[in-house]
Amino acid sequence: MTGAPLDRLRSAAEALSEEVSRALWRAHAGHAADAPLAALYARHAAAYGPEALPQARELLAVRGAPARALAEWVAETRVARALAPHDDGELAWERRATVALPDGGRVEYARVPIVMANAADRGTRLQLESARAALVGAELAPLRRERASQEHEATASLGMGDDYLDAFARTSGIDARALGAAAEALLRDTQGMWDDVRPAFVRRRLGAGIDAPTRADVPALFRAPEFDVGFPPGGMLATVRTQLAAMGVDPDAGGRVRYDVGERPGKRARAFCAPVRVPDEVHLVLRPMGGAQDWRTLLHEVGHALHFANAGRGLPFEARWAGDHSVTEGYAMLLDHLVLDAGWLRRYSELDAARTAEWRRLAAFQELYLLRRYAGKLRYELLLHGGLPLDAAPDAYVELMEDATGVRHDRADAFVDVDPRLYVVRYLRAWQLQALLAGALRERYDEDWWRNPRAGPWLVGTLMAEGQALDAEGLARRVDAGGLSFDPLVRGLEATLA
Ligand SMILES: [Zn+2]
Repeated sequence: MTGAPLDRLRSAAEALSEEVSRALWRAHAGHAADAPLAALYARHAAAYGPEALPQARELLAVRGAPARALAEWVAETRVARALAPHDDGELAWERRATVALPDGGRVEYARVPIVMANAADRGTRLQLESARAALVGAELAPLRRERASQEHEATASLGMGDDYLDAFARTSGIDARALGAAAEALLRDTQGMWDDVRPAFVRRRLGAGIDAPTRADVPALFRAPEFDVGFPPGGMLATVRTQLAAMGVDPDAGGRVRYDVGERPGKRARAFCAPVRVPDEVHLVLRPMGGAQDWRTLLHEVGHALHFANAGRGLPFEARWAGDHSVTEGYAMLLDHLVLDAGWLRRYSELDAARTAEWRRLAAFQELYLLRRYAGKLRYELLLHGGLPLDAAPDAYVELMEDATGVRHDRADAFVDVDPRLYVVRYLRAWQLQALLAGALRERYDEDWWRNPRAGPWLVGTLMAEGQALDAEGLARRVDAGGLSFDPLVRGLEATLA
């Protein structure tokens, strides 16, 4: 497909993307009570409806066509549309669900992790966790299990592959099973380091006598309020702006990035970046909670925001809005990893030298936990989407996640702890990509590339200007960094944790 039909599909897709993004931004930032998504989708059916599907299949048939990302967008949008009633029901459940507290009170389901992170008493955490797991097992897990089977059916009905993973491979161009093999190797390669460092961190942060932490202990394991003093809330945005300016980057991208980092009722707790028009209107929304995590979250979202706001205006829709999201997550992680960089911390945080070393070790331990958790998730999700009978999923989930993390998991979460469309693949590739990008920046602009005025124009003006026209492999080649691999990450963690 070329010429006018292709351009019509692109403009229909862009019109829908803009309206959906604007509606979600308004609802999640607390400017509107809800997002009228059903009406928007109905109005823009040309972007994903019966006419668009054969067009998408046609684009997919041309191997290596740059417009493949457009076909992938159509496929994802059709599946998302088919699951929308289901997702609405789930959101409604999440809004009304509450979990019993040990003291007889109740807490909103969404706030359970925050209460767990701040509960010093382990007995309280475990009671709360068992109440949460019982509720999820009885009410949310059946909904999510039904969603998984509907997602498989909706994907099969696209006619773009033999099964879910085949369709994923053909639309995304990513071999998830090959990444799964690399994730297994990562688990093997880091097993010794993990076994060496884990007991001491668990003992120090959770107390003696806990051999097998549960997921209820994980937020408390990493919360570490003693480092909050190094990351004061008042200085956060100004510091990040100063650092970006030092590396020759306009933090506002000429007014195209709008920062919203203040407290407002109705604002969602989880930060997000909403590209309402790419590259002209990008909203960064963060509801501050205090501490290092806010700084890290801000840097992550700044990576996304600068990427969208600097995408070349002349790029086609699919290179500005769609494509391999490992790339935008890679830029986000490149910036959020600055809170692990000793030089950056010395210059921009308020931690003293001793605290900086302690903080970096804890942050590296958390990174290792998360990497192993995502590697475990990928192993599990490849089974879940690869033909495993759904009845067998809870046992597989518990076994693989415990194997990867040493943390006890609950069968109730087997369909809940799963992101849509195998997004775990994008995160793992982004982790690999950010390590390569950081290496390329160090090589070109020295260890402190993050304050070198020549680094920003390259990162933002050259690389980010390409949007997602290149996938993660293409971008790695573009910066002469070799292939995507977990090796540089593992070497970095070994250096910090040794
Ligand atoms: Zn992100």
